[in-house]
Amino acid sequence: MGREHEELQRRVVHTGRQIVTIFQPAIPFVVQAAVSMGAYAGGLATAQAIGSALRISCGTPVFGPLGGLLGVGFASAMAGQATIKCQRVQSDGLRRGLLDPGVLLRGQLRPEDLMADAVLGIAFFRVMGGKFRSVMPSDLTKVGAIAKESMPAAGMKYATDEKRRELHRFFKRDGCHHCGTRKGAVVGDHMPPNKHVQEVLNANRRRLLGSALKYKIVQRSMAALGLPTGQPLQRYYPQCRPCSQKQAAAVRNGRSHLVFHEVLHRGGQSSAWHYAGVLVGMRHQNENKTNRKY
Ligand SMILES: [Zn+2]
Repeated sequence: MGREHEELQRRVVHTGRQIVTIFQPAIPFVVQAAVSMGAYAGGLATAQAIGSALRISCGTPVFGPLGGLLGVGFASAMAGQATIKCQRVQSDGLRRGLLDPGVLLRGQLRPEDLMADAVLGIAFFRVMGGKFRSVMPSDLTKVGAIAKESMPAAGMKYATDEKRRELHRFFKRDGCHHCGTRKGAVVGDHMPPNKHVQEVLNANRRRLLGSALKYKIVQRSMAALGLPTGQPLQRYYPQCRPCSQKQAAAVRNGRSHLVFHEVLHRGGQSSAWHYAGVLVGMRHQNENKTNRKY
């Protein structure tokens, strides 16, 4: 019995060693990819926080996309630097690397690395179908950063059961169009919000166009001139309850309310292209093995 047990133990250890031998070459690569991805996500989260502090949302004209572009560049440069540092720790031995902060500080920051990573990251992001505006926080009074699919709304009324079922499907697939969560019940969010539509209608009436608009000829002439002839078309977007509640207060008070969205969210506007910075980080893979000097 004892001998059998020993034999079994020996085999388990042997198999374990074999597995380690097979996967060993992949370990540094996996660690570097994880560090790169963490730095990239941290860079994007920082960009979103800066956007929030400057009151720039994904719906802000010009500054929204510009902030997103700078954010992707910053996150990509961070991913590149994190990979370089990670390699230094790995090549100097993990224990020494962690005990000696000098390993991390050694070697100067090369501006050409930062620049090349930022430019490459931005290019990857764009090629992979990324939308720069969706890096910035969502404004609850506008279409959110995560928004992908929507459907025509039946005026200002609540979504019918049939439409809600479809919205539920969008919600589970892409998440809340403002924050990205897939948890809880779905709300059919009117975009533009009902209050804004009502304001447009009231403004039309004030201009005495309400009565004139009854006539087709007036409607056609206005449409030809590109003037709004009636109720702006609204669409339903999938939204979570907490966002819906905060939005109601924001719209009522006539204020914009910015919310953070998941940084590496899958689905909606933010999918695989969110990993562009990780690919940039991996550009530095095995640089230590080449003739790089520190
Ligand atoms: Zn939400």
